[in-house]
Amino acid sequence: MRIAFIGLGNMGGGMAANLAKAGHEVRAFDLSEAALAKAEERGCSRIADAAAAVEGAEAVVTMLPAGRHVAEVYRASVFGKAPVSAILLDCSTIDVATARAVEEEARAAGYEMVDAPVSGGIAAAEGGTLTFMVGGSSAGFERARPILEQMGKAVIHAGGSGSGQAAKIVNNMLLGVTMAGTCEAFVLAQKLGLDPQVFFDISSKASGQSWSMTSYCPVPGVGPETPADRGYDGGFAAQLMLKDLKLAMEAAQAANAYTPMGGGAEELYERFVQRGGGGKDFSAIIKMIDDSWTP
Ligand code: NAD
Repeated sequence: MRIAFIGLGNMGGGMAANLAKAGHEVRAFDLSEAALAKAEERGCSRIADAAAAVEGAEAVVTMLPAGRHVAEVYRASVFGKAPVSAILLDCSTIDVATARAVEEEARAAGYEMVDAPVSGGIAAAEGGTLTFMVGGSSAGFERARPILEQMGKAVIHAGGSGSGQAAKIVNNMLLGVTMAGTCEAFVLAQKLGLDPQVFFDISSKASGQSWSMTSYCPVPGVGPETPADRGYDGGFAAQLMLKDLKLAMEAAQAANAYTPMGGGAEELYERFVQRGGGGKDFSAIIKMIDDSWTP
């Protein structure tokens, strides 16, 4: 297939390379010269601008930072420039309202478009093991699926337009809440004289357990190996968790949903990022909850 790929950053770089490796003609564009050069090294054709990249494309994939970049790229360089027969896939994590608005504009211009945000970080993007949550019509999903399968291990249809973004941010809101709660629990347990390993052995088999406890324990040396065992480096950066929590709170406000726990997690991550913890794994907030931590 001839695929236009716009946004070749930490995530998009690996995803575009996997499409090229699978034998597609990948026409790549990014504002960054360094990202373009790297994409070229990895089998993509570098194209001078986004509108030229989508010319004659059978599919357009975007992996951009936020909603405003997505709206700008589609409005300025995709609609009316890509053939209407092209399937449009936005894999960025953006707000639900912009995802729905851009899809509506796409449909009015005669295109089929899906939102397909991912779960999994840079390593999964490189390894082609991402999970895609897809929002859009059944026909759009069926057209997008074979392309997404070449970049991921699971492709799930979440519902109509914007549902992929909704699934992603609601899941990550729950993850932020359970991680914050798990960190609080470990700190309190320790202050009450419980050994963290003993508390883990009890709680991971009792009603307080969650993925944040059993698979991603924030305490070094306890449970399976996690970023806590590597000085909280790698993993899922706290600043990305904050981005997703902000998107969830924005969506909650628009939907008139009461989300006090999500709001609490957002506040904690905001404080942690302001104190310089944004680049650390999101489980590192245990260091802030534990008052012995110094940034
Ligand atoms: P990034 O900042 O590394 O990459 C974004 C790229 O988009 C950059 O190379 C930038 O130059 C390019 N860009 C921006 N505006 C552009 C425009 N108008 N035209 C062309 N290129 C443009 O970000 P990333 O880490 O690759 O993340 C991309 C998306 O994936 C984000 O929405 C993020 O929330 C989501 N995401 C990231 C991770 C992660 O672990 N990094 C995990 C899941 C989801």
